[in-house]
Amino acid sequence: MTRRKLVAGNWKMHGTAADLDEVRAIAEAAQRMGGVIVALCVPATLIHRAAEAVPGFPIGAQDIHSAEKGAHTGDICAAMLHDAGASLTIVGHSERRDAHREDDASVRAKSEAALCSGLQVILCVGESDAERVSGKAVEIVSAQLDASLPHGAAADRGVPDRLAVAYEPIWAIGTGKVPSTQDIGEMHAALRSRLHAAYGSAGASVPILYGGSVKATNAAEIFAVADVDGALVGGASLKAADFLPIVEAAAAAA
Ligand code: PEP
Repeated sequence: MTRRKLVAGNWKMHGTAADLDEVRAIAEAAQRMGGVIVALCVPATLIHRAAEAVPGFPIGAQDIHSAEKGAHTGDICAAMLHDAGASLTIVGHSERRDAHREDDASVRAKSEAALCSGLQVILCVGESDAERVSGKAVEIVSAQLDASLPHGAAADRGVPDRLAVAYEPIWAIGTGKVPSTQDIGEMHAALRSRLHAAYGSAGASVPILYGGSVKATNAAEIFAVADVDGALVGGASLKAADFLPIVEAAAAAA
């Protein structure tokens, strides 16, 4: 089964107009590399300028509200993201699940709103350190995915072409710690089986990304694991010099 390879950067709360040169450098180099789709999920305030700076290159958001519009101070809906020039969004990142108390039901609603509007979605799941130590990480993350995946019309419209899943162990994000390749492989195989259970044969085409302290130095080893179809990259996506070697490793593995 050949799946599209995807390497997406998550800039989190980093980046102003002064950083658009990095966006340009990443987009120009990525567009010359075949076999892998590259995207940057920038802060909401930068989406419009980034999309204008690199026409045709996928610029994404880091969150979306599930409602079409309304009294939701500070939130941003799908139509606004489209209007700004975004073509995708992350949903369910652990930093939002934690700091904004987003539960699986709200992550599902966000993914459904995004897919119904035509945005692509990177849906994040992952276990805490304590859950990994408990030996129940696979069970817990599988249940999290089951409860967060889009259903109904959104799934019909978005799966498999516009949905990707990112397995991001919380304890690996920004820490320099990475699970063993065996543990990554075990988790990705389990998530693949949940995608089959949810979507039948279409589940085979949904990319599953790994995220958590991916760097130039470990990317090739991670991309060699079965069922790893790319990466969601935080800190190492901020500079072209750090990010492009990761993209090259994905292209080499494609
Ligand atoms: C992330 O926050 O999605 C992430 C993977 O971060 P980092 O690469 O910095 O661990």
